[in-house]
Amino acid sequence: MLSVKWKLDTGGTMIVEHEEWQRLSEYLKHFGEVNHDFFGGLSKRPVGTLSSNLLQAPLTEAGMRLDAGLDYLKDAVIPQLSGSRGSRYWGFVTGGATPAATLADWLVSSFDQNVAKDGDSIASDVERQAISWLVELFQLPSSFKGVFTTGATAANLVAAIVARQYAGIQQGLDVAKQGVHGLDIEIFSATPHASMVKSLGMAGLGQNNLIQVECLANSEAIDTDDLAQKLRNSNALSKVIIASAGTVTTTSFDDLQIINKLAKEYDAWVHVDAAFGIFERLINSTPLTNGLEQAHSITLDCHKWLNVPYDCGVFLTRYRDIQFASFDVPAPYLVNNHSEPSFMSLGIENSRRFRAFPVWFSLLIYGREGITHWVQNNVRLAKRFAQAIRDSTDYELVYECDLNVVLFRPNAKNLTLRDADLKTQNVLRAINKDGRLFLSPGRWQGTQIIRAAFSNWQTEDEDVSIAVQALTDIAQNTRS
Ligand SMILES: *Cc1c(COP(=O)(O)O)cnc(C)c1O
Repeated sequence: MLSVKWKLDTGGTMIVEHEEWQRLSEYLKHFGEVNHDFFGGLSKRPVGTLSSNLLQAPLTEAGMRLDAGLDYLKDAVIPQLSGSRGSRYWGFVTGGATPAATLADWLVSSFDQNVAKDGDSIASDVERQAISWLVELFQLPSSFKGVFTTGATAANLVAAIVARQYAGIQQGLDVAKQGVHGLDIEIFSATPHASMVKSLGMAGLGQNNLIQVECLANSEAIDTDDLAQKLRNSNALSKVIIASAGTVTTTSFDDLQIINKLAKEYDAWVHVDAAFGIFERLINSTPLTNGLEQAHSITLDCHKWLNVPYDCGVFLTRYRDIQFASFDVPAPYLVNNHSEPSFMSLGIENSRRFRAFPVWFSLLIYGREGITHWVQNNVRLAKRFAQAIRDSTDYELVYECDLNVVLFRPNAKNLTLRDADLKTQNVLRAINKDGRLFLSPGRWQGTQIIRAAFSNWQTEDEDVSIAVQALTDIAQNTRS
């Protein structure tokens, strides 16, 4: 139905003119309208949509006219989207894309570059520069190189694969070629993120092969004495330490300086999952992540505190040769004459989205100061919210707010553990149903808790006031 037309431009270059593209201005008009409506209605949209109901319809055979398709979209999908990009979505540790990052992400689709290898676009250079800017932002040595991933989970998977390659080198084995069979490896961690555990499974190292190290009292941070003892008792030929810089419940930071010392002693690989905790380096003059500079590899997330759209994570390492050995894609048509390895030889995918671009553009637009400002503001507001919970008679603060996460629950005075948990679950459901804010559940020391994580660039004092009012209203309603 759609014919392809070819013609020469004035310079004599052949250009393609597809009829569909003649409608570009029509598409852009609709794009503008849908965005206008979505952004315009954001303040009235519930922060979370608790239950959704998608119209069940068969695949269309003949397709649909664009305007009819957009009407269908406006009817069937858009009303049930969440307002999670807004300032009171405090679930998980997600951010919400800034205007600059949103614009850049729109352009990623317009540009439609495949960042697999050099030689046909500047996109790979931009990705490399985005990574070196991140390394600069977080004051890491320039020996750290990396790759963009779909998120911290994928970065953790890359980490597990590179760590096992390192273990193989120690044991005279090329794991990428020979497999993990026969690899003698032990993995040590105190509070690995669930995605890290999943990654150990995906990488063939086995989720159950994780050696659980004790935590410090009242913390999710690793007890380094226990780690030292467990390393000493280990007979494995290779050892990997998975450290956390910012755990998701208590935002605890493992002591990386001691861990590095132990790692040296035992020739262990140190991977640090710093998905959101790395941003702490922007606001503390003596960061809790001191020692991160000496990690073997690092995971960080850009779709969290950097506030770029999903999906965007980063894996960094000082050992790119080992990374390359793990992921190299040798195929004749993929030969790369560039001095830098291709990104497809550094990570999971061959064809890759230009997801580095929103990060590059955000760093360009907001700079260190802009980003530091919202991180600082989030931490200030989290502490303000924690204080309001502490002052409230309806709720109790479960843990001191050290960074950007507030752990609390409804007042559990005179309640059994079970009843307190039930009450917490009911109140959380009521909070999220109310629509003014959205929070996640959690568990701490055997009890059900509610988590509020501050990582959205646009959260302000007014949002905290609205949230506190919502909590007060809900406490009243659930009491009566
Ligand atoms: C969010 C998070 C992850 C998982 O990240 P995704 O981007 O959701 O894949 C891993 N580790 C930590 C510490 C996190 O906070």
